[in-house]
Amino acid sequence: MSQIATPTTETCPECGATITFARAPRRHEIVRCPDCGAELEVTGVSPITLALAPEVEEDWGE
Ligand SMILES: [Zn+2]
Repeated sequence: MSQIATPTTETCPECGATITFARAPRRHEIVRCPDCGAELEVTGVSPITLALAPEVEEDWGE
């Protein structure tokens, strides 16, 4: 029993709200801030770092 299930939290870079992960996120996982709704990409897992996810929508020509 060496692993302890500790709550994993990180701060939303957009609004500063605390985001709680039910389990350790994986890198490049997209999470949504429950407070402001911003999509955040997990850019690192040790420690956890979050960055605003780039817009997925692309212009398909004009
Ligand atoms: Zn937020």
